[in-house]
Amino acid sequence: MTSRREFVAKLGAVAATGFRFAPPDVILHGGHVITMDPSRPRAQAIAVGGDRILAVGTDADIRALRGPRTRMMSLGGSTVVPGFIDAHSHPAIAGRMHLRRVDADLRSITAIQAAVRERAARTPAGEWVLGFKYDDTKTAEGRYLTRADLDSAAPAHPVYIAHRGGHSGYVNSLALEKAGVTETTPNPAGGRFEKDPASGRLTGRIVENATEPFDRVIPNVYTRDDYRQGVKLISQMLARSGVTSVHDAYGNTTDLRAYQDARDAGELGTRVYCLIGSFAIDRMIAAGVRTGFGDEWVRIGAMKATCDGSISERTARLSQPYVGRPDDFGIIVSSEEQLYPVAKKAHDAGWQIGIHANGDVAIDTVLRIYERLQKESPRRDPRFRIEHCTVINESLVRRMRALGVIPTPFSTYVYFHGEKMKEYGPARLDSMFAVRSFLDAGIGVTQSSDYPPGPFEPMMALQSSVTRTDMKGTVWGPRQRVTVEEAIRVGTLHGAYASFEEKTKGSLEPGKFADLVVLGRDPLREDPSSLISIPIERTMVGGGWVYES
Ligand SMILES: [Zn+2]
Repeated sequence: MTSRREFVAKLGAVAATGFRFAPPDVILHGGHVITMDPSRPRAQAIAVGGDRILAVGTDADIRALRGPRTRMMSLGGSTVVPGFIDAHSHPAIAGRMHLRRVDADLRSITAIQAAVRERAARTPAGEWVLGFKYDDTKTAEGRYLTRADLDSAAPAHPVYIAHRGGHSGYVNSLALEKAGVTETTPNPAGGRFEKDPASGRLTGRIVENATEPFDRVIPNVYTRDDYRQGVKLISQMLARSGVTSVHDAYGNTTDLRAYQDARDAGELGTRVYCLIGSFAIDRMIAAGVRTGFGDEWVRIGAMKATCDGSISERTARLSQPYVGRPDDFGIIVSSEEQLYPVAKKAHDAGWQIGIHANGDVAIDTVLRIYERLQKESPRRDPRFRIEHCTVINESLVRRMRALGVIPTPFSTYVYFHGEKMKEYGPARLDSMFAVRSFLDAGIGVTQSSDYPPGPFEPMMALQSSVTRTDMKGTVWGPRQRVTVEEAIRVGTLHGAYASFEEKTKGSLEPGKFADLVVLGRDPLREDPSSLISIPIERTMVGGGWVYES
């Protein structure tokens, strides 16, 4: 039992951290609070003052702190967890896509047609209707989207729907006309305008380099205002799903401006840790900026570089070939010789470094670079990151542990992209998205979406990590299963640590930011196969509600 006097004394102790003493602005009570604070794992109530948590405890303790202007809010038995931190995502670019394009991540062609029809109805005739995130393996009809489907949905608009994998597009008749593609147009090198074998008519499916004539005629210019609005839109989407902080895994100076513009306009409801692409590192270093610069809303993150290919496109650089393709080991995008000098420059200028490495060969390469940097110019707490860090083995994990490297594996891929897993094979899946192995080794593995390629909903991440089961019921890599509580810790405290913000975020304890999520059901008591259906009731960032259902 904490008395008011003890509480005031505690506040005095934290006053030195610049933290103002006053009665709480808001008291949330009558809840089931999962704090992620080992000294008080469960509570019923939280007192919030300004943007911080003042106290966490029982209903009786916290209600006693009520002042004359304190707003009391009953949680009605709902569960509260810390706000989720997505440690690898692409929010600024995703926001711009959502601003202009139809989200075609739908479970039937009929539903995609309805979404296209709806967009066409509020788009002047003759202007493009664009879509993204279409995935033919996830629609009920079991066939590709056709020109006829899109003609019937939007006969007066050119339509272009991009596949989630980025290797094909789906267009209607008006789009073919605008791009000047007819039945007699020859296929370009490395590309194909698909035709119906019986009639010889174009189907509307265009593959690889055949998308080029469309890229030339589709408008792709964004104003500064579009950039800001894209951030506003994605921030609202993240708030609805319980994400309160996001690490932009490949930001540039334009994205930084967009985040700041949205923040100045009062439209940013998500804290952003913005990794900067290595192409911009010279300008950033010249400006005297390094990792950590900024404030609790928009902060400069690590320098980002890329070593190998991707998991969903099946180009990650592996030591063992892809299943069914004995000569295919994936690709290296940047070699050790290319990566080392830029990593050295960033390391010596005080930057955190995050290098994209999916396959075990690429991870080995990146670790060699990090080991060399620490040997040549040791830094006390560099918190090197390996972005994705998908296919591991025991020796890689040992070396990561020794250096304190942070991995950001895809948290929703097993559930969402199950059909792509067979090319890695069941045995290798036991060493992929290896959250169990990382936790057992004491490594600060994070929750990460890589959105748009992977969905960002934290409840899907929990279900995927806990069950290792895809949406069709197939289990992939059961040895990497974790508990619900572990998955929540990965999605909260570990994300905060990955951005050097574990003292202010990631758990619900006095002095930290009031970033939290109110859930409709308790994930610790939920059947793991229905975690994804837990409703997000409310999301608070910095003491203010950014989403209320
Ligand atoms: Zn990424």
